Amino acid sequence: MTLPWTLQCANCGATRDAAGLPGVCERCGQPYLVRYDSAPGADAKARLRERGWTMWRYREWLPLADGEAPVSLGEGGTPLVELRRLGAKYGLRELALKDEGTNPTGSFKARGLSAAVTRAVRGGAQRLVVPTAGNAGIALAAYAARAGASARVYAPESTPPTILAQIRAFGAELLLVDGHIGDCGTQARAYAAEVGAVDVSTLREPYRIEGKKTLGLELAEQGGWTLPDAIVYPTGGGTGLIGMWKAFRELQAAGWVQGKAPRLYSVQSSGCAPVVRAFESGAERCEAWPAPRTVAAGLRVPAPFGDRLMLGALRESGGGVAAVSESELVAAARELQTVEGVDASPEGGASLAGALALKARGAIEPGERVVIFSTGAGWLYRA
Ligand SMILES: *Cc1c(COP(=O)(O)O)cnc(C)c1O
Repeated sequence: MTLPWTLQCANCGATRDAAGLPGVCERCGQPYLVRYDSAPGADAKARLRERGWTMWRYREWLPLADGEAPVSLGEGGTPLVELRRLGAKYGLRELALKDEGTNPTGSFKARGLSAAVTRAVRGGAQRLVVPTAGNAGIALAAYAARAGASARVYAPESTPPTILAQIRAFGAELLLVDGHIGDCGTQARAYAAEVGAVDVSTLREPYRIEGKKTLGLELAEQGGWTLPDAIVYPTGGGTGLIGMWKAFRELQAAGWVQGKAPRLYSVQSSGCAPVVRAFESGAERCEAWPAPRTVAAGLRVPAPFGDRLMLGALRESGGGVAAVSESELVAAARELQTVEGVDASPEGGASLAGALALKARGAIEPGERVVIFSTGAGWLYRA
């Protein structure tokens, strides 16, 4: 079957047919992105009325051929919660939070892995592998189980114990690594090469980005097909930022939204801030962060493979960066829990703390529509 999209290298522009197993560009080793043969039309918008609230309601925007069913657990369709109390306290009149902790598997990683596992098994994969700071491992374990495929997960031994327990609970083979996600990646790639497993790590296949794109599509629909002024996003590997930016560009091209796309802001912990440093120094790529440390496991990515795409999206959108301290992000997560009743992960705390820092420095105005993200559920980080 010819699929209605091709894969195009984000670096050298080489294209390939989408059939078969996904990977990185055969020519230059950089990430492929999905390019659809045609944009969704007005009929796709009308059909939304008949569809349930999962990310696959946007199937015309996603890598599915006619008649194909996704590997799904009901991911997406997460609430956009207005933060009236915290907004009033901090002088942000239109502050809202996208609560991704309500996804199956407890984080927004469900979106990317639902799409990636769907395409990998359609392409013939029986074994899947991922290096993870934690939550991608849970999501791969669950979606592989759902697809009847086997999963191997490489995670740092310092990963929160509840996250490790969840990876095991879904039946994945879990290997603990004395190091960070980069060290896990080296081992995952060696395993993939040895047994022919598909490596679904961030941007080493193109479909996790497509799943993450639904963050942007959902925000647009929840805003009545208008977009917020600013998005403040806790950044690790960059799938969320790159995916949302791709969503906004595709929505504009299809004429589903008018006006400017939101400014994207990346927040990182001051204990691991390669994107912040690269952005501020004007660099196109990140330099590996030595000895990365943060309790926000999802942000402990010292050398993101998608650095160029991420920095490009931040700059094109007119956004920026903020680094927050460990005590700030922990306090902000607690405030989301105790003041708003949102079970924010530490990464969600970083997003709030980052928004406050950006407002303090005048990058965000008090009356702007600002969306922060809690990318995972707080309970995953409690023992
Ligand atoms: C993976 C992860 C992140 C970072 O995600 P990217 O979109 O890849 O930058 C942030 N928060 C949590 C909870 C995560 O699991």
